[in-house]
Amino acid sequence: MTVREIFETMEYGPAPESAEAALAWLDAHGRRFAPAGAEVFETRNPATGDLLAEVAQGSAADVDAAVAAARAAFPAWAAMPGHRRARILYAMARLLQKHARTLAVLETLDTGKPIRESRDADLPLAARHFYYHAGMAQLMAEELPDRQAIGVCGQIIPWNFPLLMLAWKVAPALAMGNTVVLKPAEWTPLTALYFAQIAAEAGLPEGVLTILTGDGTTGAALAAHPGVDKVAFTGSTEVGRAIRRATAGQGKALTLELGGKSAFILAEDADLDSAIEGLVESIWFNGGQVCCAGSRLIVQEGIAGEVHDRLRARMATLRVGDPLDKSIDLGSLADPAHHARVAAMIAGTAGEVFAPPCVLPEGGAHMAPVLISGLEPADPLMQQEIFGPVLVSTTYRTPAEAVAIANATRYGLAASVWSESLGAALDMAAGLEAGVIWVNGANMFDAAAGFGGLRESGFGREGGWEGLRAYTRPKQEAPALAAGAPVAKPQAARA
Ligand code: NAD
Repeated sequence: MTVREIFETMEYGPAPESAEAALAWLDAHGRRFAPAGAEVFETRNPATGDLLAEVAQGSAADVDAAVAAARAAFPAWAAMPGHRRARILYAMARLLQKHARTLAVLETLDTGKPIRESRDADLPLAARHFYYHAGMAQLMAEELPDRQAIGVCGQIIPWNFPLLMLAWKVAPALAMGNTVVLKPAEWTPLTALYFAQIAAEAGLPEGVLTILTGDGTTGAALAAHPGVDKVAFTGSTEVGRAIRRATAGQGKALTLELGGKSAFILAEDADLDSAIEGLVESIWFNGGQVCCAGSRLIVQEGIAGEVHDRLRARMATLRVGDPLDKSIDLGSLADPAHHARVAAMIAGTAGEVFAPPCVLPEGGAHMAPVLISGLEPADPLMQQEIFGPVLVSTTYRTPAEAVAIANATRYGLAASVWSESLGAALDMAAGLEAGVIWVNGANMFDAAAGFGGLRESGFGREGGWEGLRAYTRPKQEAPALAAGAPVAKPQAARA
């Protein structure tokens, strides 16, 4: 009997991960992260609808105060020798590992993602990002002698990987000597608030990092603030465009990591067992709420029927359920509003829809995995980012046609090619217009490798040398904004 078969015959899966420590932390803060009398918003567990906490809705005055604190902290932080900044970043990495269990549960409560993913992917990758950039802080003076910190960075992140996106933004910025005001997404602010405590415990000086909670209006005020020297944004293409407009002509550095509709090209000579598993990982990891999800299957015509059959059989084994249950594959989508958006997008499609029968838990934003096949490349569902557990599929005949279909979108974030002929796979890869391309693999990330998109998927890279350089400017350049920056009284906006 295989392990999977044993699992399938079990009446109950393993007991759910205990949420006790994460809930105790919320209780210790009175389930409220806001000064008395401040305007607040609610953050809920999307898998149950339960209220987790009330969180401050950052006002324009809060943005002023946070930017002023970052401005005041900048000269000393930028002047600190790299090895001393490195010590603090190493401490943050170690503390992330020490608090990993609580943080993983908190992330799962706030996002609805499976605990297996937050524990085995989000947390280790976030810690790795801080370790890597601690090393780079130490090397900066030797390796980038002609570069210096930019200044105050306004960073705005989405809800799909709250702590990991924080790590991607904060670690390189601090390593290179910048100070930061970071705004987490309003659906998922909790791990960022927890991280503020970690930063303080690691010895980060006051004002170097402020977690500023709030919705899009807070984000817009931060991006447009004249005291911010660099804006780093990850989120939708629409908001990226608004930020680009708002910062035009202000002389700010800008990096945008936006949406995607990544192609998964499956050739008839591919190892189908690994390709099917790769596809499952590619589109149903985090319920498809992944910017680089392989959401567009482009399969060679001769094997399309077999691939769809095998995929449907595999989909029927995916478990949708309580995100805290270690044996489930799909948790809840991040918010009921997002669930409604995904459902509305796929309703009335002309394609053939398959979703395995499964009993979804009540009261949450759960959704079964969906395959929509038989779509033309120009179909809206082949073009628009769905950002949910929905795979759309079309066919191709020749490698040239596969590349042409893959490139026929407004996005260009990632792509993967599956073939046992490496020469043919690399030929196709060379023609693909995407920032990241995997061969016989998908969703592989490393702090040392640059990640980012082309076209409407944004510009700039995060990770690796390119990501580091994006948080520096040439040494001979005078600070662009420091002299004219507004002076407001620093205030402890950090939780
Ligand atoms: P979103 O654009 O709606 O929100 C992202 C963040 O921007 C949130 O913190 C939000 O409060 C803030 N915001 C909203 N309006 C704003 C404005 N006018 N000015 C400034 N900030 C504003 O995106 P989302 O729904 O949270 O996330 C999903 C999107 O993120 C998807 O399109 C996904 O592809 C993209 N994403 C991209 C990457 C990448 O690396 N390329 C990674 C993760 C997610």
